[in-house]
Amino acid sequence: MAMCKYITVDGKPVPYAAATVPVHSAAVKYGASVFEGLRGYWNAEQNELYVFRLREHMVRLVQSMKIMRFKTDISVDALCEQLLVHMRANAHKTDCHIRFNALVVGEGAMDTSAPIQFACVSEERLAKPAADKAISAQISSWRRIDDTTMPPRVKSAANYNNGRFATLQARADGYGEPIFLTQQGKVAESGGSCLFMLRDGVPATPTVTGGILESVTRASLITLFAHKFGKAVQEREIDRTELYVADELFLCGSAYEITPIVDLDRLPIADGKVGAGTVSLWRAYDAVVRGRDNAFAEWRTPVYGAAGRVSV
Ligand code: PMP
Repeated sequence: MAMCKYITVDGKPVPYAAATVPVHSAAVKYGASVFEGLRGYWNAEQNELYVFRLREHMVRLVQSMKIMRFKTDISVDALCEQLLVHMRANAHKTDCHIRFNALVVGEGAMDTSAPIQFACVSEERLAKPAADKAISAQISSWRRIDDTTMPPRVKSAANYNNGRFATLQARADGYGEPIFLTQQGKVAESGGSCLFMLRDGVPATPTVTGGILESVTRASLITLFAHKFGKAVQEREIDRTELYVADELFLCGSAYEITPIVDLDRLPIADGKVGAGTVSLWRAYDAVVRGRDNAFAEWRTPVYGAAGRVSV
């Protein structure tokens, strides 16, 4: 699927190859860069592309910049508008993945915190049914970073080196994805997604203070479990061995959507097949994200329609 024709830099679309970052910037030298990964979902009947939970992503971007002491007073509204300018310039008419970066492009010492370049890139990427995405996973021997060292709450590119260690190890060992334990030995998340478990029919997921990114998808699924299935999700500590005896496990995130884990550390999860609960949840999620189900309209920002406004 195609990469975008234009990258949008500080709200202005420029040809893909013309968007650059200075080699000696703090973004490159020190990893002073935070970002958001979002999805656009195409609805062919409505001839509309919906950005999923745009505002929530931009709120998190502003929080990441605050924690990292980036010097900028850009508003959430202005960031949402930049992303929509980007999407309209590229005129995507299919599902896509969108990356919105905030990069410290100033050159200087460790404390360089400005100026910030906002750069948006997108790629056409079809969403896949959860049933077609079953993976194996490995409890990583690498532990998750934590709030006293490299806060996982911050969606900083530098944090992904922790994810890379674990992912590269998982792939070298023949697994699909890693699952991190915290420094305290409790289940945290994967390198680029959060984790849910269904145990005796009850959904559970680690807490937001348990070494995870405060995932927008995780929050959406907690709401969907309650509203569509009448199930309250337990946000709690989870032990490694609870995962082995779970009925169903899945990863979630903007990029991963709902990705079932059917095998963990070479132990099958239940019968080793994608579970019915995971498939039903994915169906409900897919209908909501692309507006086939009208519920939660505030989660969808239409890119092209007359109502192509940012939901507040
Ligand atoms: N955890 C990590 C480490 C991630 O990189 C992501 C992807 N952004 C997630 C969880 C899922 O977050 P979200 O649902 O907001 O995409």
